[in-house]
Amino acid sequence: MSSRSLMMILPSLAALMRSRRLPWQGAEAAGEAGASEPQALVDQAARIDPLTGLGNRLALEEAVATGESVGALLLLNLDRFRFVNATMGNRAGDELLVQLSDRLQTCFSAAGDVFRLGDDDFAMLVRGRPSKGKIEDLCDTVRALFAKPFPLTLGEFWINASIGVAPAEPRERDLAALVSRALTALHKAKAVPGTVHVLYSPTLMTEADALSELQSRLASALENGELYLEYQPILSLKTGVIATFEALLRWNLPEEGEVAPERFIHLAESTGLIVPIGRWVLQTACREAMDWPDSVGVAVNIAGDQLRDPNFLGHVEACLRETGLAPHRLTVELTESIFSVDPDVVSASLGVLRQLGVQVALDDFGRGFSSIHYLRSFSLDNLQIDRSFTKEMGEAGHDGRTAELLQRLESTLDLATTIEGVETDAQFEQARALGASAVQGFLISRPMAARDVPLMLAGRGREKRRRKA
Ligand code: C2E
Ligand code: MG
Ligand code: MG
Repeated sequence: MSSRSLMMILPSLAALMRSRRLPWQGAEAAGEAGASEPQALVDQAARIDPLTGLGNRLALEEAVATGESVGALLLLNLDRFRFVNATMGNRAGDELLVQLSDRLQTCFSAAGDVFRLGDDDFAMLVRGRPSKGKIEDLCDTVRALFAKPFPLTLGEFWINASIGVAPAEPRERDLAALVSRALTALHKAKAVPGTVHVLYSPTLMTEADALSELQSRLASALENGELYLEYQPILSLKTGVIATFEALLRWNLPEEGEVAPERFIHLAESTGLIVPIGRWVLQTACREAMDWPDSVGVAVNIAGDQLRDPNFLGHVEACLRETGLAPHRLTVELTESIFSVDPDVVSASLGVLRQLGVQVALDDFGRGFSSIHYLRSFSLDNLQIDRSFTKEMGEAGHDGRTAELLQRLESTLDLATTIEGVETDAQFEQARALGASAVQGFLISRPMAARDVPLMLAGRGREKRRRKA
């Protein structure tokens, strides 16, 4: 990944790197001797972010230029912050930024300084020569700030952040190089769900090259016939039967074999390749589901870019028409990348899908974006509760969180809930006790080929009849 494309990801950080004036080439410090008082105030204001009161990017440049030793640079970017502004309003967004800057300052005051570079981009400059362990400790402290909700006027709000860290070279003053390394690490952190930090290392550059190689192979995977689907059942707890199978994308490279979904699905989503691939997934899933009993539906994961595609709704209709699949047998599962789409576009598309009779589910709910506020603006049939909740089920002190979440969802939003990632009998029993509508997980079955679905259903039917007899 070139530093040029990294710049495109985070514009305000890119602006910092593009800054023409090199900080160590005679920056005029605020309040310099001889400056008049009003001028000093103007200079000071030019270095302060008015919303949070933190130093801005000019202040960061100057801080690096002072000659005091710089130990490391941490760059922090919130996940899906744009969506917060779009759905909850700019005031809520501002409130969140102010609370975050207070938290950052409190936890960082002894180690260095915090800056806001613009939007939801923050930088933390660590002073001195911290050891790698000390830098890791600082990152852990910053990550812990996101383990608690932000108490906004509209209600409690959870959000994740990605953190890229670049330890400085001894006496490093080249801010552009330091930012570039921290951005490479941040880009890597962005690819991992949840609040994570990544420390820069030269191997990250090699990984970035390998990723662009994988990307060019993915671009031709569809026409080379390397993609296929597997299906994983979702068991209804209301009826005790398997109501739906979720289509999961797989990639088999002729020489290397299977590519792990976590290696290529995010790549497809972040490069836009998911649009043509997703069209193929929808078409294939509708066609393959036609070989199953009429009572069984198919769920297809849909990424944000697909919803943004003006041809998407027409394509759904065409798939249903051409394959003959009844609309109520299709569920569209919206993955987390829909949070990057204009909420008005999402709402309008979901309205049309539901009018067609297609079911709409929100996937991986609770993975970092647990505010239920924005759910009101989308019309949904089902919420898939993320695996991280299931993992906690059965752990002392955590049951309450899941139970409360489910209860709030049912009572306020009247939504059916599917608990994902059920692996043990204990989790299954608990999902049932909590009143979830359905469960999915390795306990029920691992994903399988389309042709095995009727066999599995027949096997379960026989098993049920035997137990009754
Ligand atoms: P998802 O939609 O939440 O799909 C469920 C994922 O959880 C699948 O991983 C499945 O194999 C895994 N899983 C199911 N039960 C268990 C369990 O009991 N334990 C554990 N540890 N894992 C379980 P997979 O196949 O790796 O897919 C990962 C994600 O990739 C999916 O998460 C979905 O967000 C995305 N994805 C898959 N296919 C497509 C696609 O066609 N289009 C798009 N846009 N995204 C897709
Ligand atoms: Mg899914
Ligand atoms: Mg899911």
